[in-house]
Amino acid sequence: AVVIVALFLGYRMMKGKQKHSLWAEDEMEAANTAEDLKLLELIGRGRYGTVFRGSLNERCVAVKLFSSANRQSFTNERSIYGLPLLQLHDNIARFLAADERTNAEGRAEFLILMEYYPHGCLSSYLSHHTVDWSTCCRMTHGVTRGLAFLHTELHRAGESKPGVAHRDVSSRNVLLRSDLSCVLADFGLSMALTGSRPPRPGDPDTMAISEVGTVRYMAPEVLGGALDLRDCASALKQVDVYALGLLYWESFRRCSQLFTGEAVPEHQLAFQAELGNHPSFQEMQILVNRNKFRPRFPESWRSSSPALSSLMETMEDCWDPDAEARLTAQIGPPPVGPASSQDLGVVKNLHGDDFASSVVKTTT
Ligand code: ADP
Ligand code: MG
Ligand code: MG
Repeated sequence: AVVIVALFLGYRMMKGKQKHSLWAEDEMEAANTAEDLKLLELIGRGRYGTVFRGSLNERCVAVKLFSSANRQSFTNERSIYGLPLLQLHDNIARFLAADERTNAEGRAEFLILMEYYPHGCLSSYLSHHTVDWSTCCRMTHGVTRGLAFLHTELHRAGESKPGVAHRDVSSRNVLLRSDLSCVLADFGLSMALTGSRPPRPGDPDTMAISEVGTVRYMAPEVLGGALDLRDCASALKQVDVYALGLLYWESFRRCSQLFTGEAVPEHQLAFQAELGNHPSFQEMQILVNRNKFRPRFPESWRSSSPALSSLMETMEDCWDPDAEARLTAQIGPPPVGPASSQDLGVVKNLHGDDFASSVVKTTT
């Protein structure tokens, strides 16, 4: 990792920049007394941002830095993080502040400050660690709950959150807390689906609507140019659920308890075995859309427990070629029962608390 403290010592977060800044309310105080924001270590590089571990008034933070060329992605991510109620959920990355300023070369650059997640993204965690069954269930369940919450339109105490499609669900866009609980992050391509007006075919933005995301995780209908934009909101949620299925596959392939008496296979991204590290759009189109190929389950899973069969079925129901046949991630009304499970309701259809705990029970 590159330590670049010196380079960024001159950065000041708030000096004369209030009018461009969007500070989360509870951070206001801290921000006003902000000393220097220090960027300490490069921890991630995505397509749009460069992410640093940093510190703001002794507090450890993550800073996503966007160049001026990626302003659109910054603006979009900031506006998603700014949606009412979004920060209420435990499985959505914690946003702290956004800012823009001029760097040493006189160019504009944009920053998003967020909580620092010490284990980084799910895919890097899985490449270095195996996970036990209950941890793996907790991780995937967390991502699912985060996605269900994101997808759901919510009205609460006079505030409203529109349904939001993530549009870039992948194991690189899920971050891990130190207790290995997961949050959904990277809302640079996300899109509010309700509210002002849902997008429609023929809009100048329609191209952008149908062709974003990481190629590896693109649903067959996106690859085939057949995304059904008549019901854009549902179509985009179905695309997210497809990618969620791939994320399940990547996670459970690293579950130690699912490989008793044999070595746990090395971590692989979906389709990595077939197409390597940089699959092209055309290669993905042929494999996933034309040939309807999906990740293979390990041989030993076939003859296994009912719990494992139901897990494999869940994945298959996420990546069904028929988008409308896929599971949905939705938050239902609060369940009747113990208050502990009552936070924002249960994840319906796609396995909720009940599924995760029942699977754990059956296999341990
Ligand atoms: P991009 O939009 O460019 O893909 P991301 O927001 O996905 O940017 O961040 C890129 C990578 O940086 C992530 O995959 C992850 O490894 C790392 N990262 C991002 N945010 C954090 C954070 N808050 N804590 C720790 N690591 C992070
Ligand atoms: Mg990303
Ligand atoms: Mg992104």
